[in-house]
Amino acid sequence: MSSPRQLYEYLRRIGIREDVARAFMSVDRAQFALSGESFEKIYSDNVVITYHDGKVYSTSSQPSLMAEYIQEAGIKRGSRVLEIGGGTGYNAAVMAEVVGKEGLVVSLEYDVGIYKRGKEILERQRYGNLVYLNRDGYDGAWEYAPFDAIIVTVAVDFVPLSWAKQLAEMGRIVVPLDLKSVAYHPTFVFVKKGKWIEGRERFVTSFIKAEGKLGSLDEMVEKEYNALECDWQGEIYMDRSGMWAVEVLTASIGKIRGFFVFADGKGKAVYKFEKWRLCGNVDRLERVIMELERERFPGIERAKVAFDLDRENFSVTREG
Ligand code: SAH
Repeated sequence: MSSPRQLYEYLRRIGIREDVARAFMSVDRAQFALSGESFEKIYSDNVVITYHDGKVYSTSSQPSLMAEYIQEAGIKRGSRVLEIGGGTGYNAAVMAEVVGKEGLVVSLEYDVGIYKRGKEILERQRYGNLVYLNRDGYDGAWEYAPFDAIIVTVAVDFVPLSWAKQLAEMGRIVVPLDLKSVAYHPTFVFVKKGKWIEGRERFVTSFIKAEGKLGSLDEMVEKEYNALECDWQGEIYMDRSGMWAVEVLTASIGKIRGFFVFADGKGKAVYKFEKWRLCGNVDRLERVIMELERERFPGIERAKVAFDLDRENFSVTREG
């Protein structure tokens, strides 16, 4: 493929919506890529490097994956969209085409170097419905909320409360999560229903890792964990998928990955460097440990993740 038209035809062939495929044809990806990149690569279904300064880099994901994200998020004409991980703005521009004049895209990029380059490129395109900001995606964009969709194009350690709060009723979050315990970043799709945000794993994906608060759960967890007062503390070593452990903890635990809070409020557990560190109510923990050791639980793909906006924590329940 060596032209936007061919990219359009390819996206249509694999079943992408007409309006979405057309948006990919309207935005010239060459404008967002590094100079010297071949058209052959730019207009094909490839990851393209868009920024590289020796320290940080940014990439534009495969168009087919971004198209799937846009569809999963339910983005259409008139939608208000928040993008986390703006990069040099290619995906934001595509989404601006999809939502049209009646809609809005707000895109957040953390790195100032990438942001400056993105701003230059986007200013040439003159999108009246696209706001591009230099900000840690953790905070979202209160000033433009509510959003019908939040699209995250960087692997994050967790879903911050700000996103859940800035989402409209029945709004969707499409997000690759860095669960640490598996080598890829499974993409979860969450839907807001009243005080609940419910989600499931949808695709197997792999992204650049988030910087800033969205990528620093380990440090945050470490601090909180060290500050805990417990009757009992211990560590369990796990040499294989920690996802199983997440499932084990489903019946009783509040937050997904990192800082888990037992429903009875008596214990905490942290998964780090292939170890579970547990602290709290001994009876309860002994049961969890026994279940962990028996390894009889299925993986995260069979779990439903729910976020309770009132109690401000996640729960995971086993399905099927
Ligand atoms: N959507 C972009 C691809 C972005 S790659 C495109 O179409 O080109 C991921 C981007 O996320 C990188 O540019 C990286 O700098 C940015 N990023 C990393 N951590 C972030 C954070 N906490 N908040 C916002 N952006 C972040």
